[in-house]
Amino acid sequence: MQWNEIVGHAENMNSLQDMLSNGRVPHALLFVGPEGVGKATVARLFAAGLLCSGAGQKPCGECSSCKQVHAMSHPDLIVMLPDGASIKIDQVRQLQREVALAPYYGQRRVGIIDAAETMTVQAANSLLKTLEEPPSDTVFILISNSRQQLLPTIISRCRIMPFYSLPYEALSKALAAQGFDHAQAGAAARISGGRMGAALGFLAKDGLIVRNQATDIVAALPGCLPNYIWETALLFEKLERRQALELYKHMTLILRDLLVYAAVKDTVLLFNADIAERLATVAHHWSEHSLLNALKAVEFARRALVANANTRLTSEALLIKLRDAAGED
Ligand SMILES: [Zn+2]
Repeated sequence: MQWNEIVGHAENMNSLQDMLSNGRVPHALLFVGPEGVGKATVARLFAAGLLCSGAGQKPCGECSSCKQVHAMSHPDLIVMLPDGASIKIDQVRQLQREVALAPYYGQRRVGIIDAAETMTVQAANSLLKTLEEPPSDTVFILISNSRQQLLPTIISRCRIMPFYSLPYEALSKALAAQGFDHAQAGAAARISGGRMGAALGFLAKDGLIVRNQATDIVAALPGCLPNYIWETALLFEKLERRQALELYKHMTLILRDLLVYAAVKDTVLLFNADIAERLATVAHHWSEHSLLNALKAVEFARRALVANANTRLTSEALLIKLRDAAGED
């Protein structure tokens, strides 16, 4: 991975490259922004640059340090991730023991703390002590998707770098340049809300399958036989809660697209533009009024699932509501 492969985040990329070339690197950086926009990727690239032993632009991608960072096996790169749901004080203590030693290659150490907002209060307070008196040869990169969940005292010790979602067009273009089908790249950019990681996740086979499943359900519901409801509810029963929520999310996006199409009779504003023709056909079976009711019903079911309601019963009730909504005018 090289700097020119990072899509977007130009201001941060410039600052980080300046730090590498002039050697003035803060002791702690905080990369903060939505999940899946590339914070961890940039953190690894910057870490590679900090540890690179090559000449010229850093990271060179060729030296043994760069290769070890790429393989996540560099002895001076410490990556801390949540252990279960949180980062615990024992993990922070282990990190502190490691950074207390001289760097293995004698240059510097980099500590990446991913999902920093999951630190327990004890862990955060312990890390704070290290950030207040940082070892001179260590750079910490904290990664978080929630600034609100971090201790203000931790934030105040870091150089803050906000990461934002990318404009749809930029992300869509970047995905197409990676070889993805143009129409699917466009859909992925919109469905992911401009987040590269999420878009790649969608384009991986499973994402498209779930989206197509959601489309099938929304297309089949108007005027369906009771059997279809039971069979589909069984399908939901086999899903983990997280997967069921993902299917709900795509049903919402499909219903949203149908509503947009019903209102403007144009496919350019559709999120799922790659299946625009099919959606235009499905839209004939739903009125605007019924789509609004359907969207409310999915949101109601989503909240119930988040609150631990039974997946099968919730989904069955939802499917019945959607079929009834489709039958109204
Ligand atoms: Zn290198």
